[in-house]
Amino acid sequence: MKLTFLGTSHGVPAADRFCSCAMLEVNGAHYLIDCGAPAAELLIRRGIPYTALRAIFTTHAHGDHTNGLLHLCDLSNWKFKDASYDVFLTEQALADALKTMIAIQDTVLDEQRIRLHVIGAGHVYSDENLSVTAVPTRHMEHAGRPSYSYIIECEGKRLIFTGDLHGQDAADFPAAAKAEPSDLIVCEMAHFSHEVAFSHLKDCPTKRVFFNHVWYNYEQSMAGIEAAKGRYPFEVLAVADNDEFIL
Ligand SMILES: [Zn+2]
Ligand SMILES: [Zn+2]
Repeated sequence: MKLTFLGTSHGVPAADRFCSCAMLEVNGAHYLIDCGAPAAELLIRRGIPYTALRAIFTTHAHGDHTNGLLHLCDLSNWKFKDASYDVFLTEQALADALKTMIAIQDTVLDEQRIRLHVIGAGHVYSDENLSVTAVPTRHMEHAGRPSYSYIIECEGKRLIFTGDLHGQDAADFPAAAKAEPSDLIVCEMAHFSHEVAFSHLKDCPTKRVFFNHVWYNYEQSMAGIEAAKGRYPFEVLAVADNDEFIL
């Protein structure tokens, strides 16, 4: 499988970073984890037909994780009519808003092809390539709204995407990342320091840790990530847009 980061910035894009969007390619099928980057355009730029898109998993409703959905779903609806995929959302309001915006733009969403689902905790999706489980986090707890980490099992490997977490202590860091071995943890670092991140990660039996969404004291955090290399039993890396990894 190949993991490509289409967007690695936090809530605000940077000159060289779109907002959160990771793409997993397995046996020719493509999956997105969050869609804060202009995925519609980036797929075309990369020569990836929309027919290759199988599913999109969003961790929560914030725009830096979902704002790329509208153009992607809209284009899939009126132009690329061979596209057929599942979109996993955390709230019904987001599904309703997408449908409303597409209707305003003059088409009715073909829900046979662009299938919107509202997820809860637990198993979300399985196909012949991978299985996805959602684990609740507390990132939007202040608003009484849901958010999730994702555990993806694929080709005998286990990947954990933390999604955005809660507050400066990341107390909702996914327990599953500590309880069971994983091959990769993609850890956000927008809301807490690298010291807090490593206070959780040191207990995780994982092989690699990729940091994205870095915002909290950016310079210090990046320096902290750099200084951590070689100090833990797992690989440590801050990822950038267009980084690709064969896992
Ligand atoms: Zn975010
Ligand atoms: Zn957020």
